[in-house]
Amino acid sequence: MTPLTRLIAARIRATGRISLAEYMRICLLDSRHGYYATRDPFGAGGDFITAPEIHQIFGEICGLALAQAWIDQGRPGDVALLEPGPGRGTLMADIRRTIARVPGMADAARSLMIEASPHLRAVQRDRVPGVQHLERVEDMPAIPLFMIANEFIDALPIRQFHRGEDGWRERQVGLDAQGLTFGLGPVVPLDRPGRPGDIVEECPEGAAFVHAVAARIAAHGGAAILVDYGGWNGYGDTFQALRDHRPDDPLAHPGQADLTAHVDFAPLAAAALRAGAAVSRPVTQGGWLLSLGAGERAARLAAAGDGGAMAALRRLTDPQEMGHLFKVIAIWPRGAPPVPGFEPLEAHADNA
Ligand code: SAH
Repeated sequence: MTPLTRLIAARIRATGRISLAEYMRICLLDSRHGYYATRDPFGAGGDFITAPEIHQIFGEICGLALAQAWIDQGRPGDVALLEPGPGRGTLMADIRRTIARVPGMADAARSLMIEASPHLRAVQRDRVPGVQHLERVEDMPAIPLFMIANEFIDALPIRQFHRGEDGWRERQVGLDAQGLTFGLGPVVPLDRPGRPGDIVEECPEGAAFVHAVAARIAAHGGAAILVDYGGWNGYGDTFQALRDHRPDDPLAHPGQADLTAHVDFAPLAAAALRAGAAVSRPVTQGGWLLSLGAGERAARLAAAGDGGAMAALRRLTDPQEMGHLFKVIAIWPRGAPPVPGFEPLEAHADNA
């Protein structure tokens, strides 16, 4: 039992079962007891380690890709450099350090962040001096938008639907004598093909977020890079809890375990196309980093005495480690050159 177990149980007693998305939102974002509100989950002492926390090479490559897009679009003078869900701020700090070597870019780019956790907002302000936090992407000024998002979409609440003989039902969290328990709601008119036993997930906030970002890029210029673990036209139950580096029962410790789902990039790409932007095919994190010189960079750093560079490169790029599980897509204005390392998705791909 955690404080949130009691709160959620009381809520269910009062108004009935809640959706999985609502459960996820409370567990992660409750301002008092939520996972992100109460702790710093990053790094060796936390629950997981993200790519920018593994090594600076990750942020350097992201920074150079965005810098090339900025140069390709004529070096606009006042642009936003936005990161949603920046964790400790390490990625943005590495990107700022990298673009400082690109003449004119550091002066042109204001640092903006979107972060739900007040605790992490303070950490980020220390790490990236002068950064400004926005409530939502709709609050962006009308200037070119250069965005990097790493492991942000996977933290957004998902809805999950189970197919029975009579149609799709949404997965819910309810209560029985033992405590919190999973259940299914009434049949809903979900417009997805499926057979009894099938499970599909949707991340409406993720698609809405990507649509808003892509619409700005289409209108004002810029580029976005989204990195996350997941796939293309995902399928099945990917909802999971991680606590102290170990898988956990997602109902056992609400607020004390990280809850995530695999990111399905196909509907995100479709949202970007609908918004009028160009979008890439997905590439693997490993393939993308290596194609932009991560191997050469690691070798140089190693030769200069960075004892961890080659091991970090392996962790970031090896197919057995993060290299294949993590995928990357990019968004840019139609008619502009693609972001380095990407090629355009056919506009009429089956899922677009
Ligand atoms: N990008 C960072 C951290 C990823 S963890 C890294 O690579 O290390 C997810 C981040 O998103 C955390 O900073 C978390 O507080 C934030 N977050 C989660 N849900 C959010 C939401 N709905 N709105 C804004 N930020 C959110």
